[in-house]
Amino acid sequence: FNVPKAVNEPVRSYAPGTKDREELKKALKELKSKQVEIPMVIGGKDVKTDKKVDIHPPHELAHTLGHYYQGSAKEVNMAIDAAMEAKEKWAATPWHERAAIFLKVADLLTGPYRYKMNAAAMLGTSKTAHQAEIESACEFADFMRFGVEYMTKIYEEQPVSDKNTWNRVEYRPLEGFVFALTPFNFTAITANLPAAPAMMGNTVVWKPSKLNIYSANVVMEIFREAGLPDGVINLIFASGPVVADTVFASPDFAGFHFTGSTPVFQQSWKKIGDNITKYKTYPRIVGETGGKDYIFASPKADAKAVATAMVRGAFEYQGQKCSAASRTYLPGNLADEIFKYVKEDVSTIKQGSPEDFSNFLCAVIDESAFDKHAAAIDMAKEDSSCEIIAGGGYDKSKGYFIEPTVIKTTNPKFYSMEEELFGPVLTVYVYDENKVDETLDILDNTSIYGLTGAIFTQDRYEIDYLTKRLVNTAGNFYVNDKPTGAIVGQQPFGGARGSGTNDKAGSMLNQLRWVSARSIKENF
Ligand code: GLU
Repeated sequence: FNVPKAVNEPVRSYAPGTKDREELKKALKELKSKQVEIPMVIGGKDVKTDKKVDIHPPHELAHTLGHYYQGSAKEVNMAIDAAMEAKEKWAATPWHERAAIFLKVADLLTGPYRYKMNAAAMLGTSKTAHQAEIESACEFADFMRFGVEYMTKIYEEQPVSDKNTWNRVEYRPLEGFVFALTPFNFTAITANLPAAPAMMGNTVVWKPSKLNIYSANVVMEIFREAGLPDGVINLIFASGPVVADTVFASPDFAGFHFTGSTPVFQQSWKKIGDNITKYKTYPRIVGETGGKDYIFASPKADAKAVATAMVRGAFEYQGQKCSAASRTYLPGNLADEIFKYVKEDVSTIKQGSPEDFSNFLCAVIDESAFDKHAAAIDMAKEDSSCEIIAGGGYDKSKGYFIEPTVIKTTNPKFYSMEEELFGPVLTVYVYDENKVDETLDILDNTSIYGLTGAIFTQDRYEIDYLTKRLVNTAGNFYVNDKPTGAIVGQQPFGGARGSGTNDKAGSMLNQLRWVSARSIKENF
């Protein structure tokens, strides 16, 4: 079968005067003009309960976007049953027909749904138009199209046969259902975690973060319109512990596709361990979790380039990316110059609602994220090792606004050098430029994570040295670039250590986790 060669979806600019900008504004207005009712979708049917929960934009708490219906263990069990019922037919569907559905998802998304999908992410999760476009449209489409290309390669790769024998490998779906637990911060990940196992013939129980049900609802609408059969992906809303206890206790649980916090992943793994003797098959566990991602500038770095990477890497989408730069190591010989550029850049940042396209920063996702950041900033204000270089303010009167904040510290183990905050706070340690190696040791031993990292130097030999020296610190390593913005098909994304199982999102490696191979030898 010749599936179309995957290419990355081009990013649109939404510049003033463009048709895209007008259309996106129209979609925002349309979504804001009505309150949407969001049911669960189980076995293809809309399911409502008597418990409604309101949804508000994080930047405009006075507005209500709609509400979703909160489920309980009953609906989780219904979703498991629906997934198990749909399983046989879906697994028997030829893979190229499954592929056609997900290619259609990408076409619908980048065509008629593009503005609605972006607008939903902007309102529901406080993303600027650009931050929505790069992932809610482009990365989501890329996951679908590259996913189909990788699945083609998997199914077509066959072993050699010998005289009088025919060997083949059959890539069976897992024996049971897959549970997808998705994060608030990326629509692309929200869509891909259920879609990747479904492409490979599995049926899925999907629980999105309660903080982005508004976007998940549009994703489900696109899946359904693309012709995904009933019961293949079942969308449920219930509290995390209720879902986990129900799903992990099912003997048919066969796989876990997760992006979210390290503690939730570790608790889930423990629960799976507690139930291990119940399962028909050892479940696949695939998780992308936290990060405490770094920028390391060598004494030979380009100061301006470092400053740009700090501002973009730490503050785009309010720093709410697992990949966001949150700790930085600057050499004493360049620190003042870099801080000067950083201050200049931060002073031009406008913050507010994403509906005003001139804003670069919006609100953090919820009150607990706001409180955590406000507390970390206060801690720095009171600590004698720290100095606030930029920002430092916060305000939750209308929405959850934390100013883009840069903290300088003389303590490389200060709280916010180690703790993942997941927001617009960047902590910087200035090191003695004659102590590069000691600083690299500190960098390597300061965090439990290993997701992304960036080094800056203009010396080719030093690039090689640092790349080798920091080998286990990051699953996505950047040289002279910010540590965010991995592109599907170009920089497969994922980390090791405390950051996850490193089964690279949107890669063949990931897709292979959702099949169980059977080798068949036949004599003739
Ligand atoms: N893939 C994203 C990036 O490279 C980060 C994904 C995440 O936050 O989980 O920026």
